[in-house]
Formats: sequence, structure tokens, C-alpha cells
Amino acid sequence: MAMNSTGRPTAPADAQSTAQDVDTFSGSRGLLQAEPLLFEVGAADKCGVDLPDVPEHTSRLGGLERSEAIGLSGLSEPEAMRHYVRLSQRNYAIDLGLYPLGSCTMKHNPRLNEKLARLAGFADVHPLQPQSTVQGALALMGELSHWLCAITGMDAVALSPKAGAHGEWCGMMCIRAALQERGELSTRRRVLVPQSAHGTNPATAAECGFDIDELPADATGRVDMDVFRSKIGPDVAAVMLTNPNTCGLFERDIREIADLVHEAGGYFYCDGANLNAIMGKTRVRDLGVDAMHINLHKTFSTPHGGGGPGAGPVVLSKRLSQFAPVPYLVQDGDAWRLVEDDAQAEEKPFGRMCAFHGQMGMFTRALAYMMSHGADGLRQVSEDAVLNANYLLARLKGEMSPAFDGVCMHEALFDDTFLKNTDVTTLDFSKAMIDEGYHPMTMYFPLVVHGAMLIEPTETESKESLDRFADTLLSLAVAAKSGSSDRFVSAPVLAPLQRLDETQAARQPVLRWREA
Ligand SMILES: *Cc1c(COP(=O)(O)O)cnc(C)c1O
Repeated sequence: MAMNSTGRPTAPADAQSTAQDVDTFSGSRGLLQAEPLLFEVGAADKCGVDLPDVPEHTSRLGGLERSEAIGLSGLSEPEAMRHYVRLSQRNYAIDLGLYPLGSCTMKHNPRLNEKLARLAGFADVHPLQPQSTVQGALALMGELSHWLCAITGMDAVALSPKAGAHGEWCGMMCIRAALQERGELSTRRRVLVPQSAHGTNPATAAECGFDIDELPADATGRVDMDVFRSKIGPDVAAVMLTNPNTCGLFERDIREIADLVHEAGGYFYCDGANLNAIMGKTRVRDLGVDAMHINLHKTFSTPHGGGGPGAGPVVLSKRLSQFAPVPYLVQDGDAWRLVEDDAQAEEKPFGRMCAFHGQMGMFTRALAYMMSHGADGLRQVSEDAVLNANYLLARLKGEMSPAFDGVCMHEALFDDTFLKNTDVTTLDFSKAMIDEGYHPMTMYFPLVVHGAMLIEPTETESKESLDRFADTLLSLAVAAKSGSSDRFVSAPVLAPLQRLDETQAARQPVLRWREA
């Protein structure tokens, strides 16, 4: 068996041979069906629907139309159904089990949300319909805006960003527009970003043309205030800070950070991805925030993962709201209206971020979630999320090593100290969790903690579910420390694909199917 320098099998097939596995004649395993790619199972001459012949017509493509079929693979309806159901069975999902991916808030998605999102008046409207025919949908967006502003205490919200990262870009573009108006864009070049930040923060600031200046963490996992004070100055455009931060800790000095950056003439961008820990407990406005994105797909339970649509509305302070992008929503008496272009705008929008107004389906789900919980329910969501994370922290800290002392917010962070002198790494430990039926936690993030393991259970796990998960992790930790590295080095051996060469997958990804 081919092993790499750290003693791990280098290819799935090698790992498989250690799995005491049997080969089946069909390629299926138990009731888990083998399934090739769509291009391999289908045929170009098959079709699941009967379409009428195209009537006589005159082409307006000026001779550029295709003359041959494009060769897309066709399937009958039952074949298409089986193809996707088989693939789905190889996937992990929040509807299957606990999904402890830190910083992602993988909570249960209530079915009520789905029911409401499928109402024809929300699901079947078209963004190019006359606005008079979609007043209900616009009113829903207005109601959602109201809830987002009430939860955060902020003055305005831009709804169109389609993900957290997109929202960061929206907020930083508002800051950029404000600096431009002040004539300070060329002199305020620096954006301060903690080393623990999500990678999208520095990427966003760089995309907006700023220079990144990193802020180290202190021994408690929070912004090192001495360094922060020394870095603040007249060339600072903004600070981007996540609160609670990605170590799962509340930035206690956040007021002082906001005051210092404001005194220096800069802006405070808050990354709101971790709102699930503080919603209904702390008002973002009171923390001195100028702009913050909210991941509806995290905090407000709209389904995510696997590349599905997200929604990253940005709440803005009064001095930034005038720069919010078009389209934006205004209410004239009882009627709602989308301001579509800069010429119509009374404010000073920095531009347009996407073709239309944002993700209607996610707006509907998020509002359904908010209204079904109510203000008290949303506060309890945060309390329970923090309670669940601390329950896991307390249960696990005997065998695993918390990265920082004390209680956490909505996620518990461990480092790899407990694996010291074992043959097991954070990667091996995470892969072994797959054999135990769990999606791994977020690993090697945040970067400020060695071999980080970031666990976010969310509030929707029961005590029984948390206990089963904790029991499994404790058993794995004990196994690793007692020297039984076998179950780790080749893991996962029970998953459809075994240990992959992740370096090769990242460096030489195969993104295109070619006929063999
Ligand atoms: C998830 C996340 C983001 C990015 O959000 P997307 O919706 O994935 O683009 C940014 N910052 C933090 C801290 C996050 O957890």
C-alpha cells in the first residue's frame, strides 16, 4: 500500500484495502446504490418529456445558431429521480444528523418556512413584473427590513446582497463611498482585520482597494487592545470585526474599539455571521457599528450548504444608509416601490450589486422564522445556542483541550494540545468522526489556534443528541491518547469515498468531465 511521509495511504483505493471491505459484483454497497456521473448514465437521444416540434420560424441569430445538438445527457423521469436520490444518499445533511460545523450555524430549518416560501404569491413572481402586481412580495420585504432593523437597532438595511461575503462587499463599498465623498479615499488606505477573521473579511477589504493590517489576538483570544491602540491613526478607513469572534468569544472591548476608530475618523464594519449568539440580547447599534451583514441562511434558518442560495442583507447606520445600493425599497403611503436606478434615487447609492432585489425565497423563510419565534423566541434562540455550546464545552474539556479558559458563546473551540504525543492530527480526528456518522467540525480555523476544532451545535439539538455526540468525541479522544492510531490514519473507511488526497484535489482539481 502506498503511504505518504506521514504514514497515511495516498489514495482512496489504498485506504479501502485497510477497511476489511468486501468488493461487491454490482459496485453497490448494501442498499447504497452505485451511481456514475450524469454524463455516463444518460444518453443524448433520451428525453424525460415530450416536447412539440418547433414551428416554422425565422432565426434572428444572424447565422450564429448551432447546427448540431449540444450533446447533453438525457434521462427518463425515473432515471433522473434515481440519479439525484442516489447522490443525495451519499451526502450529509442537517436533516440526517448533528452538523457541528463552527461559524456556519447549521440549525434545523423549520418546515413552516418551506410551506410559506412555496406560496405562489411569493414563489412564482417574476422580478420583471410591474411593481403594482407584486405589492405583497414587496410588503414582505418591507416587513423583513423592519425586523432586521429592530433586532439590530440600525437605521436601514440593504437587502440585495446574496451571501455574507457579498454583504461584506456591500458594507465596505458604502464605507468607500462615504470616504470618497469626504475626499479621504486616497489617504485612508488601511483596514484593520483581526488574524482570527473569516477569510472573506480581508478578501473583501482588498477587493475594495484597501490595504489589510492584521490585528493579533491576545492571550484570551480577543483583539489585543495595546496593538489596536498603536495601529489606529488618520489613515485608517475601517476596522472589520466579528462579534462574537470566530474563537466563539465576545469582544468585551468592542465599545472602546468603536469609539477609537470613530475618533480617528474611520468606520466600524461588524461581521454579523455570529448573530445567533447575541440576537435579542445585545443591540448592534449600541456597540457602535456602522455596517453589518446578517447571514439569513445562518441565523434565520434558511437552508444552506452545498452551494444553495444565501442572503446577506446589510444593516447600516444613518451616516452610511444614503450610500446603500439600488434597488432599494421605499414606502409611499400604502404602496411599496423599488428604486431601481441612480437617476431616480434621492440618496447617493454606490451602484448596483446584482440584477434584481435579492433572494425572495430566503426573505420569505427568514421572515417566517422571525414571526413564528417572536421577539422573546429569538432571544431564547440565542440563549439556547450559547447554553448548548457551553454544555458541549463542559462535557468535552476533560479529554479535549479548550483553546481558551472560561465560558464560550455559541461555539466551543478546541486546539490540538490533547493530541500531543499521539500519532493523530486534527485532520485524522475529524475524518474519524465521519466513520462515527458525524460531519466533522470546522477544522484548522480560526488560524490563531493550533490545530483548531470549532464546534457549533446550535440551539436545535436536544440534550440526548448533544450527549451522543459528546460520548462519541470523548471515546475518540481516549482512543487517540491510548495509542490506537489505526482508526484515525486511514479514516474515513466507512464512507463511500475514503481518505482523499486533499492537497491534490485543491491543487489539481478536475472540474470538467471528458469522455474517456
Ligand atoms: C459564514 C461567514 C462569512 C461568510 O458568509 P457567506 O454567506 O458564506 O458568504 C463571513 N464571516 C464569518 C465569520 C462567517 O462565519
